[in-house]
Amino acid sequence: MTLKEALAYPSKEELVQLSLGVIDEEDKRLNAFITVNRAPGKGIPMGIKDNINIQGLPTTCASKILANYVATFDATVIRKLRKAGFAFMGKTNLDEFAMGASTEYSAFGPSRNPHDLERVAGGSSGGSAAAVASGEVIAALGSDTGGSIRQPAAFCGVVGFKPTYGLVSRYGLVAFASSLDQIGPITKTVEDAALVMNIIAGKDEHDATTVDREINFTEFIGKTLDGMKIAVAKQSFSEGVEDGIKERTNEFIKFIERLGNKVDVVDIPELRYVVATYYIIAPAEVSSNLARFDGVKYGLRLSGKSLRELYEKTRGNGFGEEVRRRILIGTFTLSAAYYDAYFEKAQKVRRLISKKFAELFESYDFVVTPTAPVTAFKVGSVSDPMVYYLMDIFTIPANLAGLPAISIPFGKVDHLPVGMQIMGPRFSDAKLLGFADHVF
Ligand code: GLN
Repeated sequence: MTLKEALAYPSKEELVQLSLGVIDEEDKRLNAFITVNRAPGKGIPMGIKDNINIQGLPTTCASKILANYVATFDATVIRKLRKAGFAFMGKTNLDEFAMGASTEYSAFGPSRNPHDLERVAGGSSGGSAAAVASGEVIAALGSDTGGSIRQPAAFCGVVGFKPTYGLVSRYGLVAFASSLDQIGPITKTVEDAALVMNIIAGKDEHDATTVDREINFTEFIGKTLDGMKIAVAKQSFSEGVEDGIKERTNEFIKFIERLGNKVDVVDIPELRYVVATYYIIAPAEVSSNLARFDGVKYGLRLSGKSLRELYEKTRGNGFGEEVRRRILIGTFTLSAAYYDAYFEKAQKVRRLISKKFAELFESYDFVVTPTAPVTAFKVGSVSDPMVYYLMDIFTIPANLAGLPAISIPFGKVDHLPVGMQIMGPRFSDAKLLGFADHVF
């Protein structure tokens, strides 16, 4: 059932019961949920990534360090959805603190892909994507710092939308990299994503980076948006992209051309630098944002003979491998001796990347790439962190430049879904959703 259908469904109590039934049936295999809410009240069943606070429910961030933390307040997006008649069925699985691309870094074990249980659901919002794809919930929220809404949506064959930076309040989202993080919907259709956006977007006094901008996200839904000029990144066909994904991308180009759009394949050489840039900036922000988990204020506390020992034990045991790696990288790149060589340089390259996309949008309405260079891989098959990092090449630019970007399902390779990504200029969210809806 889509969100549009659910909104018109007479008994919201029945919807919640149906959702709980599917969760009981499916989640033993999928592990999409860390916490199931047995008393969600009545409303439209939604899954919420477990780094977004819902008062009275645990917020674990899939980390041992927060395993016993219960949220004391609602995130702004939750407050708005509650008012709009949504019921929160539980907290969905993620990579620890949203750092990862497969949910294999969750302290609660990986989520499984509904299309193939041996494979990952993607990440970091893998639980949210699996929950929507399997029908456990009607819609879900994820967070996207470098692709974490779009990539799991692609792996699970659903829609994932990262809004323009600043449109959705981050108040109540546990910060990963604050200049990149954005909350957004994972849904079955593009229209549903636009419907969720109409509820969750808006200026918020609790998040100074939110902007005052009236956008009707459903404005172009169902309208014919042809005659667009589309740039497809030439890098969509570079080595490292699976052959099957190149084939789907070529078919997507033909498909949108047939609809009356003009497509050029455009070289975006800056894509060579996006992974390196992101993996300096994001860990730098991590090292600062995660300093608050010190064993004193909240969460896990392992006592020591001195305060320093308490910190070391709590953080050394509470954080998993990938989170510790990023804290160390960030601490290093921000240190006085290396600041200029790494962090400052990365900030400059970030500006170049933003500029490149701004230039592209002077000639093109949208930029298209596959969402990820690969389809869902087998659980446990990747061990080198660099391999994970390189998978983010197509999703990272939208975060670095603050752009809206959507992943929509487009065909399969074997039995595995493929996602196409469409990016637009800042604040073109309504038009982007309209175009995505048209080609969906
Ligand atoms: N895969 C990316 C990372 O590991 C993106 C994560 C995200 O968007 N939260 O940082």
